[in-house]
Amino acid sequence: MAEPRVLILGGGPAGVGAARELARRKLGRATLLEAGAHYGGNAGSFEHGGQWLDYGSHRLHPATDAAIFADIRALLGADLKDRPRHGRIRLLGKWIHFPLKPHDLLLRLDKRFALGTLRDMVAKKLPGRTNGGDTFEAVIRANLGSTIADEFYLPYAVKLWGRDPKELSGVQARKRVAAGSFGKLVRKVLNAVPGFKAPGAGRFFYPVRGFGQISEAYAADAQRLGADMRLGWRMTRIEGPASENAPWRVHAEGTGRSEVLEADYLWSTIPVTALARAMAQGVPTDVLDAAARVTYRSMILIYVQLPVEQFTEYDAHYFPGATTRITRLSEPKNYSDLGRPKGTTILCAELPCALGDAVWPMDDTSLGRLLAEDLAGCGLPLPAAPIATFTRRLPAAYPIYLTGYEEPLGRLEQWVESVPRLLSYGRQGLFQHDNTHHALAMAYGAVECMRSGRFDIAHWSELRKLYAQHVVED
Ligand SMILES: Cc1cc2nc3c(=O)[nH]c(=O)nc-3n(C[C@H](O)[C@H](O)[C@H](O)COP(=O)(O)OP(=O)(O)OC[C@H]3O[C@@H](n4cnc5c(N)ncnc54)[C@H](O)[C@@H]3O)c2cc1C
Repeated sequence: MAEPRVLILGGGPAGVGAARELARRKLGRATLLEAGAHYGGNAGSFEHGGQWLDYGSHRLHPATDAAIFADIRALLGADLKDRPRHGRIRLLGKWIHFPLKPHDLLLRLDKRFALGTLRDMVAKKLPGRTNGGDTFEAVIRANLGSTIADEFYLPYAVKLWGRDPKELSGVQARKRVAAGSFGKLVRKVLNAVPGFKAPGAGRFFYPVRGFGQISEAYAADAQRLGADMRLGWRMTRIEGPASENAPWRVHAEGTGRSEVLEADYLWSTIPVTALARAMAQGVPTDVLDAAARVTYRSMILIYVQLPVEQFTEYDAHYFPGATTRITRLSEPKNYSDLGRPKGTTILCAELPCALGDAVWPMDDTSLGRLLAEDLAGCGLPLPAAPIATFTRRLPAAYPIYLTGYEEPLGRLEQWVESVPRLLSYGRQGLFQHDNTHHALAMAYGAVECMRSGRFDIAHWSELRKLYAQHVVED
């Protein structure tokens, strides 16, 4: 039987992982369209001034499935480095090491915060009991107490997702807060103590040419194995199959021309909302209404290149406080530890926002100023005037789980399931908080469902239940 033609939308980890697996296992003839200039999507990288930069802090977590990790290791070889984590959190005017360390907490933690947390731990009797419904705020208060909630997670949530934590679903807390209970928090602190250390704790993997090297390697291997990989090609419109066995017809533009590509299967990793809107016809109005109620948080990445060897020794700084607008600052040179380029370093700040916010259209100079002010306010002034300031924008950085989000999302999912030979997966396709290793796991899972030229929907439903358990690693 001829291998089915599978058209994949999006060349992030979910897209390139599936293209490579389909080609490697000879389970489908893959064509992949990636609108951007490189593979990797939000987990991609680009070069500036002789340095590889990511779209915000990205690390490969040791929690990666062993088989997928073995593939990444085989694709990257010695380029994949094992690195110690070395970050700091700005908490109530003090710097706390991240990952947490017992002696550092004892020495540096604000005493009022420490006492409040201890009081909350002692007072907590019934695990998981929430007051105030299943909201982000109620779950965090119930599981981690009011001190950690008020001083850390709630202001952080407002910045990350742009909503009052009472408007956010409790699911957001369960999926995004890895240290979601006192027990887990204590285990995380104990990870720093020899003898209690979990395997991989306090470490991460990082490729020498930026995090995007992982996706680039998958894409190159897919191409080597015969997949048709099209970088700089944007899907513009989709015509669903006209009859049971008719092909999908996908309109695309790239390299100065347009083309209509036919396929037996359409696998989409772009936002499920954009997928619904791209369908030429046949999408019920209530599905389009549902798409308007499913929202993603956007992000501006502000990069400043400084004429100094190193800004600090830390890989990342986290800013949960309400007075600092950025949420995280990373120094990519410290991730790869290559010591290159000499004499300069680049910082990358993450500024979550909505597409309609005043900051979204701001010019680079103003955003650079905003970053400099934020850092100075935390006692981390820029040591010299930047050589360059530039920005990148992610329209869909984080899914926002508003309370009741399950209803519009469920409507979209029902619609996807009702369309034959259509799959929507990956972070944007399933509207799921995830890490790159989760996106890759979904890609491998989708390919595993391709049996004798047909997609096994029942098996995919089982895998979906596993993906729903994914909790994001910090
Ligand atoms: C700030 C930040 C930090 C993160 N840190 C980590 C981390 O430390 N470790 C980790 O493992 N993960 C991290 N992640 C998560 C990681 O980025 C995602 O898990 C991963 O990018 C998901 O891959 P994906 O392929 O599902 O989606 P995406 O990466 O979003 O890829 C979707 C692709 O679709 C393309 N596309 C969209 N529309 C079209 C169209 N019309 N035609 C063609 N192509 C299109 C886009 O250009 C994009 O490349 C982080 C994410 C963010 C935002």
